[in-house]
Amino acid sequence: MWTDASGSQSWQGRPVWAEIDLDALEHNVRTLKARAQAGGRPAALYAVVKANAYGHGAVPVARAALAAGADALAVICVDEGRELRAAGIHAPILVMGHTPIAQAEAAVDLRLTLTVNSLQLGLALSRFATERGIAHPVQIKVETGLNRYGLDPAEAIALAQALRDLPGVRVEGLFTHFACPDEPDKTFTREQYARFMEVAAALPWIEHRHAANTATLLDTPELSLDGVRSGIGIYGCYPSAEQRRDLELRPVLSLKSRIARLRRLAAGESVSYGRTWTASSATMAALIMCGYGEGLRRGLSNCGQVLVRGRRALIIGRVAMDMSIIDVTDIPGVALDDEVVIIGRQGDDAISADEVAQRCDTISYEILTGIPAQVPRLYFRDGRLWGVQTAAGFEEIGATTAGVRTPGLS
Ligand SMILES: *Cc1c(COP(=O)(O)O)cnc(C)c1O
Repeated sequence: MWTDASGSQSWQGRPVWAEIDLDALEHNVRTLKARAQAGGRPAALYAVVKANAYGHGAVPVARAALAAGADALAVICVDEGRELRAAGIHAPILVMGHTPIAQAEAAVDLRLTLTVNSLQLGLALSRFATERGIAHPVQIKVETGLNRYGLDPAEAIALAQALRDLPGVRVEGLFTHFACPDEPDKTFTREQYARFMEVAAALPWIEHRHAANTATLLDTPELSLDGVRSGIGIYGCYPSAEQRRDLELRPVLSLKSRIARLRRLAAGESVSYGRTWTASSATMAALIMCGYGEGLRRGLSNCGQVLVRGRRALIIGRVAMDMSIIDVTDIPGVALDDEVVIIGRQGDDAISADEVAQRCDTISYEILTGIPAQVPRLYFRDGRLWGVQTAAGFEEIGATTAGVRTPGLS
């Protein structure tokens, strides 16, 4: 770890790093839970931490979300649940995706709530749970229009009734997922909700029902029922540009690098592969050791911007796997080792994951989950560096060591 004159930190040995603001994450969890429970609804908040917590790091995010009031966690597969249990997390974990029958025993041992969509899986869970003398919780997902993983209403009702009779299995929940709750027209969402409520009415003994993701909670919180599954919102992004913004969500992740080299280019000189950018006049170009292999998307070639000394600098030429070049001609005082913000705030300006996503013709979800695990994550809590996740594992940083190490010295 080392710190520059401005107090900015970076991770030794890696030229690009992500900073995760756990205070912002906790604020978002509290804010979303308050919305879910507005009007006295007893809705539980599932913190969705699939895909390495949308690129933020599953274990530290799960811990912070639970500390801030999340009632449960949600993942896609058994392996993601295993990572959380291995870290000593005891909260309920819902596996929302498909689980092969070969994973049933592991799921029972890990106490992962599976979304069961076949009687065979239910029978396997029943056998392993009975052997252990426990009742294993499961949920059922109803297909209402997304046409992905849910069971059609009649199948869902039949399976729920069959599972109810199996020893060792407890059907604790019923849920569905909306196709377009982030769009202004809510007609289809309300149709899906109505189909779901018909199934729920046929299964009155299943008391816990949920349908909402972040987008639903923002625009139509009255569809929250007994639970909300929020992913993107806890990371401080709005699901789409068309959503209500009356909740203040704070961005959690920043992606940063430093200037590794400064180079003067004369008019007519080009940069990077394919020579897609040529200097029209004398230019000061800065190299950052960050490219699409670190989550700086190639789609930002010749159009993306980064922040240096609080000002915007254009990415010039093609983004390569591990290097990119920016135009710093108009940035007074620019120097080697200056912090470069790819996503996040610097001075009075900020570049959001949404801004990057728009330039790349995608959504913030893909930008965030596209930051690979080998990029170190620096976790900040109470405004201070608290821990670092690198390829070598998680290291908690005591208050006394933060920022005092220098490159080359250990
Ligand atoms: C990913 C996912 C969510 C979370 O959606 P956000 O838009 O990130 O809030 C909720 N439910 C299911 C089934 C999911 O797969």
